[in-house]
Amino acid sequence: MNDKSLVCPQCGADAHRGLVADGDEVDWSARCANGHGEVTEDGLLLTTEKAADGYEVTQEAGKDGRVICRYGGPWKIADTLLQSILDLERQRLGPGKTVDLLSAKKIQWNLKAAKRRFRRLLNRSNNNLPPIEDQSLRELAAELLDEYRKGMWTGDDAWYSDDDLMRWSQEGFFQELKDYELRKSREPMLVLSKLLPEPLSTAFHQVRECYRNGLFVGTVGMSRVILEDVVKRASGDLEDGSSFVQMVYRLPESLLQTRDKQKAIRLKFDSNTVLHAAGVGFSESEAFLHFSGVAEIVSILANKGTLN
Ligand SMILES: [Zn+2]
Repeated sequence: MNDKSLVCPQCGADAHRGLVADGDEVDWSARCANGHGEVTEDGLLLTTEKAADGYEVTQEAGKDGRVICRYGGPWKIADTLLQSILDLERQRLGPGKTVDLLSAKKIQWNLKAAKRRFRRLLNRSNNNLPPIEDQSLRELAAELLDEYRKGMWTGDDAWYSDDDLMRWSQEGFFQELKDYELRKSREPMLVLSKLLPEPLSTAFHQVRECYRNGLFVGTVGMSRVILEDVVKRASGDLEDGSSFVQMVYRLPESLLQTRDKQKAIRLKFDSNTVLHAAGVGFSESEAFLHFSGVAEIVSILANKGTLN
């Protein structure tokens, strides 16, 4: 995004990047010409306040001073951002409320900005969404990720930006990087209520790299390892020689429904070829289906709090 497109959401004035000396620091942030403050890459107005307890709280606001996200101290960016999206969606679809056109436009603007902010949060964190305790926010996150993968971000024609294109063309490995980025933008993501046990989380990062790099046999193989591990953990890992199928069926229905049990078993058996025949190939879509199927099972089991 260049400077021209950055305007202050509060007054509509251009935001310029200037040399604002702050001690020895040179500040390259864009600032509202009318002095409202710093404007972020997403076109939000940034303010930082010191709370009574001494910690700093940062806010990013859109039109009408609407806070889009807040972080620092007790505030978590993912939670506050998702809550804003949820509230704005409700406001937008609000029942029987007469909203004038201008207000409706501002809500729409704020919603779009909030979703863009969420996407940037994912980009910056390499798609590692922090744990989200609240179930409705977790469900919203999963929905947004789904939208993101399908390239249907509201108001965005393309799922990638000019920034992305610039970045790709500046790299020597344009094609590889582009493929990597394309897969990264659509890969399965975990939306969890708390962190995974360390070995599982490591394995998840590995399968993800396999997938992003186009190593599809590796993706299917690693997905299988994760699936077996997560089922073992969920079933209490009794080491009594139970087979995978037995362990899956031992899980109570409240933890994993029959439909998902069948899915887990199917995923496991479909991946058998990886182990039993060298040279077997998997297409990108097959690898994706395995990976996303396993990610789904991991999410269900992890969010019911049964992994150790
Ligand atoms: Zn302004």
